[in-house]
Amino acid sequence: MTDRRTQLAGNLARVEERIAAACAAAGRPRDEVTLIVVTKTYPASDVRLLAELGVRHVAENRDQDAAPKAAECSDLPLTWHFVGQLQTNKVRSVVRYADVVHSVDRTRLVTALSTAAVNAGRELDCLVQVALDAESGERGERGGAAPDGVAELADALASAEGLRPAGLMTVAPLAGPFAGRPRAAFERLMEISTDLRAAHPAANMVSAGMSADLEEAVAAGATHVRVGSAVLGVRPRLG
Ligand SMILES: *Cc1c(COP(=O)(O)O)cnc(C)c1O
Repeated sequence: MTDRRTQLAGNLARVEERIAAACAAAGRPRDEVTLIVVTKTYPASDVRLLAELGVRHVAENRDQDAAPKAAECSDLPLTWHFVGQLQTNKVRSVVRYADVVHSVDRTRLVTALSTAAVNAGRELDCLVQVALDAESGERGERGGAAPDGVAELADALASAEGLRPAGLMTVAPLAGPFAGRPRAAFERLMEISTDLRAAHPAANMVSAGMSADLEEAVAAGATHVRVGSAVLGVRPRLG
């Protein structure tokens, strides 16, 4: 068995090659795209190895797992991203370690995050999660606001103390008109991003693309890709 460090280094190199090739194909400079490694279900020891291998951005989707992991890794030079559906009762914990929250999808969550961030003395970058398959005014099954709810949420973030509207996040839909068409989905997200930046010029992050579709996301214009299994291995179910 190869040791874990060698395995992670090889996987990271292959993902880096994929991102570089996708940037080259799109005529984009490599430094326009930030790799976020999604470490959910994997132990703090892996996070430590990834940091040694040069990773600077990691993401988690469940506070119960993320909080102890982030505490164990608090000595590392990492930016922590929270990418999972977020219940308001978890917010107080999440704001202690998360630097960026990707899953803002309702005004109640904006209010809760703001209160918690102020109490913790922290400033958080927040992305509005867009559910491209959600009907007007509704939320997606895996979280996310319908496209027509984005402007209101961004305005709420802009006026909330302790929070900054930083951009958009999406997961390519499994159902609806974009099912099986990640490139089209990510291009739609870019249009929504253009509208958002007209009102909030600094909200220029576009978080899209995972292990299976990072090329499509880079081609469409994503600034951040969230890659889990291609770096850490296929997860046992859950998460
Ligand atoms: C798990 C997860 C990812 C990473 O998915 P992989 O297919 O393992 O690369 C990205 N984004 C979110 C929101 C996730 O929950």
